[in-house]
Amino acid sequence: MATRFLLAFAICRLIVTVGLTLDPTELLRLGVEGLLSVEPADLGVASRDFGGMQNAEPLAVLHPASAEDVSRLVKAACESGQGFTVSARGHGHSINGQSMTTSGVVVQMSGSRGSQLGFEKLAPTRVSEKFMYVDVWGGELWIDVLSTTLKYGLAPKSWTDYLYLSVGGTLSNAGISGQAFNHGPQISNIYELDVVTGKGELLTCTEKQNSELYHAVLGGLGQFGIITRARIALEKTPHRVRWIRVLYSNFSAFTQDQEYLISLHGQPATQKFNYVEGFVIVDEGLINNWRSSFFSPRNPVKISSLNADGGVLYCLEITKNYQESNANNVDQEVGALLKKLNFIPASEFTTDLPYVDFLDRVHKAELKLRAKNLWDVPHPWLNLFVPKSRIGDFDEGVFKGILGNKTSGPILIYPMNKNKWDGKSSVVTPDEDIFYLVAFLRSALDNGDETQTLNYLTNQNNRILRFCSDAGIKAKQYLPQYTTQQQWMDHFGDKWTLFAERKLEFDPKHILGTGQRIFKPFF
Ligand code: FAD
Repeated sequence: MATRFLLAFAICRLIVTVGLTLDPTELLRLGVEGLLSVEPADLGVASRDFGGMQNAEPLAVLHPASAEDVSRLVKAACESGQGFTVSARGHGHSINGQSMTTSGVVVQMSGSRGSQLGFEKLAPTRVSEKFMYVDVWGGELWIDVLSTTLKYGLAPKSWTDYLYLSVGGTLSNAGISGQAFNHGPQISNIYELDVVTGKGELLTCTEKQNSELYHAVLGGLGQFGIITRARIALEKTPHRVRWIRVLYSNFSAFTQDQEYLISLHGQPATQKFNYVEGFVIVDEGLINNWRSSFFSPRNPVKISSLNADGGVLYCLEITKNYQESNANNVDQEVGALLKKLNFIPASEFTTDLPYVDFLDRVHKAELKLRAKNLWDVPHPWLNLFVPKSRIGDFDEGVFKGILGNKTSGPILIYPMNKNKWDGKSSVVTPDEDIFYLVAFLRSALDNGDETQTLNYLTNQNNRILRFCSDAGIKAKQYLPQYTTQQQWMDHFGDKWTLFAERKLEFDPKHILGTGQRIFKPFF
């Protein structure tokens, strides 16, 4: 009863606000079983994201009770006289308003199950031990996917560094971490999807069935459909992780070692690491190195005492997974691999922990920052894929140049193998066999230090982008943020025509994902 009342209220609000010609009783007849809300609390949540730099209030928020609810809403938006927009929101961890919309409804994909809403018809999390996959609702958080699959001794193969992100949200981008060199990004580890297209059709798609939709949606920035179910590849869960960090003062020694380690992807498991990442150390302190806390407090080497090249140090981060039954061999396997690397002698830091604790490591850092009120601050993040051939120039111009000696957050850097990415997906990467992720994970603070302000950091991001463009470094933004269609066309390059054709086919009225600012709705 309360649901019906709220629904009617929300529809009236839609009609008043955008002057829809839609008959409210028509929408009521759609029989949405979830909650269409105009509660200020719901609107408030849907108006914000992790970036903390945009604020855009939707007309209503749908907490769907099923994939059919999503389908009914999108169909109504597409077929109504004047139309309204629909944006899926996973966990709202975008930076620049990507899951927001002002002229329509936000579908809040995360948070319905297990909450007081208790919607039981959402695609249940179902594990197939025989075929090693898990089916999950598109709004499921990766941390919850993990806790279910662990009961079967299984886990997804490819991860993000942080697990409080939704499956639909990361698959709309790529989903990357230190496993990507070996398994590819998360979008390379998906067998099947259920998707509600911009016409409101609910379709199952795979490599072979509705394959154009399958490829469009993976890395598709929410432009072609709303993922309501994903079938994710699993592997046997290792028990423990040997987690190692080694330091470099020489950038080319650092990148040569990273590239060597990712070249081992085809080798037997005993002869390669499971995870290869790295980060740049320009200064110390919690906000700057919140992912690297295991250097302190018993750090045997004072980082600042090392002879850094241009004031910059580079840290290679690697892990070796193992089963307890194989614990005796780990030292030997790790030792054999480390022997081939050229890091600073005695700069090796090792810890050993349960696999789950390793995967959930960033959450611990989050809790520390939250305790200091440093989590809910603006985050002018910049993520770039830089081609291998120009990573040295990037180091000279950015790490040793533009940054000065302040970073305002961790800077990640690690290479990936392009052959682990499916060229048919919507995501764009540089045109080289190896490219690096360089992630500037900044937090803007209002603490009197001019170099930490939002304005300063945003200008610095722009300087980095301008430097790449002036130096002819063909970097591509990951989690891209643009405001004009021309910028998007440049971003997609050769893929733009296909991207636009897919949009026409799957979302002809441009009602989905308007927060990305790629296409304007046709109403
Ligand atoms: P949202 O921000 O809610 O949505 C993102 C986009 O996806 C929007 O366009 C939205 O409309 C669309 N969308 C959401 N759900 C669906 C769906 N079901 N179907 C279709 N479209 C949908 N990324 C990495 O790759 N690796 C990392 O290690 C990593 N670490 C991160 C750590 C932190 C602390 C944060 C804040 C972000 C990190 N990210 C990382 C980025 C993250 O993957 C993206 O921001 C992702 O979009 C967040 O997922 P979300 O569920 O919050 O999506």
